[in-house]
Amino acid sequence: MNNADLLSIAKQFGGPLYVYDAEKIKFQYNRLSNAFSGVKNLKLNYATKALSNISVLSYIQKLGAGLDTVSIQEVRLGLAAGFEPHTIIYTPNGVSLNEIEEVAALGVQINIDNLSILEQFGSKYPKTPVCIRINPHVMAGGNSNISVGHIDSKFGISIHQIPHLKRITENTKMNINGIHMHTGSDILDIDVFLHASEILFETAKHFKDLSFIDFGSGFKVPYKTGDIETNIEELGERLTVKFNEFCKEYGRELTLAFEPGKFLVSEAGYFISKVNVVKQTTSTVFAQIDSGFNHLIRPMFYGSYHEIENISNPEGRERFYSVVGYICETDTFGSNRKISEINEGDFLSFKNAGAYCQTMASNYNSRFRPAEVLWINEEAHLIRKEETFDDILHNQVVLDFSELI
Ligand SMILES: *Cc1c(COP(=O)(O)O)cnc(C)c1O
Repeated sequence: MNNADLLSIAKQFGGPLYVYDAEKIKFQYNRLSNAFSGVKNLKLNYATKALSNISVLSYIQKLGAGLDTVSIQEVRLGLAAGFEPHTIIYTPNGVSLNEIEEVAALGVQINIDNLSILEQFGSKYPKTPVCIRINPHVMAGGNSNISVGHIDSKFGISIHQIPHLKRITENTKMNINGIHMHTGSDILDIDVFLHASEILFETAKHFKDLSFIDFGSGFKVPYKTGDIETNIEELGERLTVKFNEFCKEYGRELTLAFEPGKFLVSEAGYFISKVNVVKQTTSTVFAQIDSGFNHLIRPMFYGSYHEIENISNPEGRERFYSVVGYICETDTFGSNRKISEINEGDFLSFKNAGAYCQTMASNYNSRFRPAEVLWINEEAHLIRKEETFDDILHNQVVLDFSELI
């Protein structure tokens, strides 16, 4: 899809708006599958939390993916989108035993990441297949907010606790069918990832009845031209060799699983918003859009870079702008950005808005969360309506103070 398509969608639906390109999701899915075509049993479980619109989930299900979930609500969304329970993996962190029991009862693959719950769950349900999330203590990415495999991380069972882990699984005689790691986002160094995979293989040797090994996700996607991204093709080639060697040694053909979120949907998404005000100050030119970090929190939350284009005036002379939102506190999308000349009323497009944008949106400042559109076969389909004032009031209880004061 191109900027002219985006502009016509913006004119049809108005802004602010999230737009997703189905072709791009499919392209990325096939790219990852092809990179691992040398593995006999490959399973790609899409990480729901990146973008959880039910129509997007349903589309990804039709591509052949499974689903990675982190809450029982995501599990329910997945089931509603048409995923079979056995194609869903549930990888929560720090949730109650109660919730894990409920999810297991739905027939979904459980993944446990702490010894306390493992011991309790294994004692109660020794027959239920359980995957174990290991923390290999490898720092895969550069951003400490989204890097989850390092030594101080709250995620996973430490590899240094393997003796205790084995004591629990042996005493409970529980059914361990998978080993998992997810080292966080922004994998740049394939050698580091492969090193973590070696640790996972070593751990896997302790368990005799595995059916899969799950390497999580964290593939880095490009945000602007010249950005380094995870070389998926090289990773595919090198990990395939290691995985197939391991299966030989293990004596069984295991399934290799991944849980891509960003990799599948980040670049497929665009966030579109109209410019309300162009404001010259003594130091810069602000372009103030009809949105804020309530709709796209990533720049303010962890300094993410989203390329911004003026799709209303693509041929205009480029100038430097600070693009800011309407939220009543610092609300900056980008400073000193070179963008073709902006006039009030123009539509700006923010790239890489497929992952962790709509799913992190809020009603801060009592604004509505925007609509979502899926672009498929050269046509725009509304897949979520913009909220209305009723949604803002919904669930709020107006007290009768004549009784209270
Ligand atoms: C968030 C998450 C993912 C997806 O990570 P991306 O960086 O978006 O690919 C995969 N697995 C688990 C367990 C996660 O929590």
